[in-house]
Amino acid sequence: AKAAGRNRVRHFSPDLRSAVQQKMQLAAELRDAIESDQLVLHYQPVMHVPTGNCSGVEALVRWQHPERGLLPPSEFVTLAEKHDLIVPLTRWVLATATRQVAAWDAAGLPLVIGVNISAHHFTTGTLVQDVADALACSGLPPERLVLELTETSVAEDPKRAAAQFAELRISGVEVSIDDFGRGFSSLSQLISLPVGVLKIDRSLVAGANGRASESAAAIAAVVGLADAFGMRTLAEGVETQEQLAVAAELGCTFAQGYGIARPMPAHDLATWMVRRAAG
Ligand code: C2E
Ligand code: CA
Ligand code: CA
Ligand code: CA
Repeated sequence: AKAAGRNRVRHFSPDLRSAVQQKMQLAAELRDAIESDQLVLHYQPVMHVPTGNCSGVEALVRWQHPERGLLPPSEFVTLAEKHDLIVPLTRWVLATATRQVAAWDAAGLPLVIGVNISAHHFTTGTLVQDVADALACSGLPPERLVLELTETSVAEDPKRAAAQFAELRISGVEVSIDDFGRGFSSLSQLISLPVGVLKIDRSLVAGANGRASESAAAIAAVVGLADAFGMRTLAEGVETQEQLAVAAELGCTFAQGYGIARPMPAHDLATWMVRRAAG
């Protein structure tokens, strides 16, 4: 069995080898891209459901690659995690996003900003300091920043998660649980953390066509759980008016999705807000 295993490795197909080489090259390019400003942030509006206002945005990273065009995060975030680039990448995102929101603030557009944090960053131990640095540089008040972490990143090292959540909470930053309902995290673990918002995963919201659907029942259960523990909820991936109506009816505080607005470059957001306010 061992010989066969070795054989398999040796007879690496040319295709596979070039795929690996491509990944290595892309990782090297990503290292430079972070320093040479090839990354860009798009911002997706978050709607405050009771008022219909846009109360915040989520920062979503893209890579303006010189040859390949605009790459989505699915093409390079995992790569960044594998090549020790996720911390520098996230520092860039934190710095850029907080600076942008501070600028919108100065222009009379106060927004809360959500930033995605990788589980890897959680285990390096620099997260609290990296967040403090971004806030200090931008002058953005901490309560305007929400860090989005997935259930799985919390489950990896719950003790460590609890300690960092507590520190972040004390600093005034809010934490939300991203993709809630996709994994199966331990509820007892979750409710012991100072979480502000549960972001209900798109997979649950997608099925919420009608108040009587099973997905609607699941969303109602999550809202009930959040209520009981003083958390708010956000329905992710709202694509239709019906899904928005169900989310509103079930008491979700926030909603986000293509049916409200797609992620967009910073300069388009102000225009979108003005047009929306005008009705
Ligand atoms: P996420 O944090 O769950 O972000 C939401 C993703 O769903 C975004 O994809 C967004 O464009 C997409 N989306 C929003 N509304 C809808 C909808 O109505 N329907 C559908 N089908 N999709 C919708 P995107 O920008 O491609 O990002 C994918 C993932 O990449 C994010 O999922 C997040 O996990 C990760 N990511 C994005 N930016 C960052 C970042 O700065 N740092 C890290 N560590 N991860 C990031
Ligand atoms: Ca997110
Ligand atoms: Ca996510
Ligand atoms: Ca999500």
